[in-house]
Amino acid sequence: MATRLLILGGTTEARALAARIAALPDYDAILSLAGRTAAPLAQAVPVRIGGFGGAAGLAAYIKAERIDALVVATHPFAAQIAANAAIAVRATGIPAVRLIRPPWQAGPGDDWQVFPALETLVAALGATPRRVLVTIGRQEAHAFVAAPHHYYWFRSIEPIEPPLRLPQAEFLLERGPFTIADEIALLSRHRIDVLATKNSGGEATRAKLDAARTLGIPVMMVARPPASGLLEVETIDAVLDFLRHHAPPAERGA
Ligand code: NAP
Repeated sequence: MATRLLILGGTTEARALAARIAALPDYDAILSLAGRTAAPLAQAVPVRIGGFGGAAGLAAYIKAERIDALVVATHPFAAQIAANAAIAVRATGIPAVRLIRPPWQAGPGDDWQVFPALETLVAALGATPRRVLVTIGRQEAHAFVAAPHHYYWFRSIEPIEPPLRLPQAEFLLERGPFTIADEIALLSRHRIDVLATKNSGGEATRAKLDAARTLGIPVMMVARPPASGLLEVETIDAVLDFLRHHAPPAERGA
């Protein structure tokens, strides 16, 4: 019998993992999405959509669906679901691993200011109006309403809902990957003087940091949320290795 695997997704990495798992007969995987995206991309394994009802709901799902192992492949800033997963894993005793992309690191020439939370970043923009490119996704964009005197360009994949009540804001609907040339053109076109972002990591959206360094533009960055306590790995191969060791089909139930 195949190992029943639950993948918590909503990321490019989860989609790629699902594609790899779908090709392996030893695994019977289901991918879970929160349901935030209106038109989610097609996936290589069956999908369920919507919250579980907290950590207890996730633990109940794991038991009811006889899940043998869990892979948390949600976004590095999706802290609640990772915390819930850690609790549910302790309650059910199943093996679990978190696939998480490494954070970006500042290098020579970078001018980064790091903040523990978005609210402190917004406050630190200061009293003098600035021209801010915001790339923090749409879910938390409302934090910028606290500083309405700046000029904003918000970039997100889907529209920010409900619309932001800001007097000076433009909305750029774009999905990465972006090139450094694209990002230099964007920053220059709008005469951006600060980039507000969060340390998501990954290659698809890192060009903005290289562009900011090239143009000497400071970056204000929200740091990663605290670790969930789950074992963390950075590659799909490492997840497959973990599963081979901790949830092999032959040994289950032995
Ligand atoms: P979150 O704050 O950590 O989670 C909030 C609640 O959403 C969870 O308690 C859970 O509801 C539900 N949820 C989250 N991920 C889920 C999943 N994969 N399957 C089922 N339920 C899930 O999460 P978030 O930051 O809102 O992110 C939501 C989704 O968007 C995730 O799939 C994440 O990977 C993706 N995403 C997030 C970001 C970001 O910056 N936060 C960026 C890109 C993509 P219950 O408590 O009811 O179970």
